[in-house]
Amino acid sequence: GAKYVVTAGGVTVTAKRVVVAVPPPLAARITYDPLLPAARDQLTQRLPMASVAKAIAIYDTPFWRADGLNGQVVSDTGVISSTFDNSPPDASYGALMGFIEADEARRFDAASEAEVKAAVLKDYVTYFGAKAASPTSFVLQRWNNEAYTRGGPVSIGAPGVLTQYGPALRAPVGGIHWAGTETSVHWMGFMDGAVRSGERVAKEVLAVL
Ligand SMILES: Cc1cc2nc3c(=O)[nH]c(=O)nc-3n(C[C@H](O)[C@H](O)[C@H](O)COP(=O)(O)OP(=O)(O)OC[C@H]3O[C@@H](n4cnc5c(N)ncnc54)[C@H](O)[C@@H]3O)c2cc1C
Repeated sequence: GAKYVVTAGGVTVTAKRVVVAVPPPLAARITYDPLLPAARDQLTQRLPMASVAKAIAIYDTPFWRADGLNGQVVSDTGVISSTFDNSPPDASYGALMGFIEADEARRFDAASEAEVKAAVLKDYVTYFGAKAASPTSFVLQRWNNEAYTRGGPVSIGAPGVLTQYGPALRAPVGGIHWAGTETSVHWMGFMDGAVRSGERVAKEVLAVL
């Protein structure tokens, strides 16, 4: 049957089947020769990544618990729209994780880490009190700025995209198969959907080998 040659980073692999398991807009950045069918490319032109960052402030203790707070906030104002208590089970230190999402994430893509930290801690003080102003360390991850992610948590279609272009989401192109959470019919956009997509593609490949 057909053979596929995949080259990346100086490595070349020859295979009967290829599984592409990256988000659709990133799959579109791979060079295909011959070109993919138009329907597939037009689909991936229309599934952009959303925008998200995570900000984690580390403290000596999960101090908010003593105030009767569980560390979880949902807010429609501020930079941080939701938080979670990410402290380890033994509470040997405290960790507050907050999401920076959508408009706020885009607003901070070009900001310095110090600017983001100041804005995030202002919100944490509003939510958890003055102690939140002084973390022992601060970790920021902006997926919009990562070469092999460029946003998150998932790529999303505007209304009409799936009804018009959807069939190309999972349809193999010759021996090229499409996995990744975006292709899942269940828990799309989550880890669960990613695993399900892997199982579906494994069955597809085994059926033809
Ligand atoms: C901030 C954030 C919070 C989230 N929270 C949750 C949560 O609480 N629960 C949950 O279930 N899910 C959550 N998700 C979603 C979850 O992370 C994704 O659904 C899941 O990781 C998708 O898995 P995947 O294998 O489809 O793709 P990915 O995990 O994106 O894997 C794709 C891989 O391909 C690599 N890659 C990209 N381009 C290329 C290329 N050209 N060549 C080679 N490699 C390439 C990337 O580096 C990456 O490692 C969250 C995501 C984000 C960003």
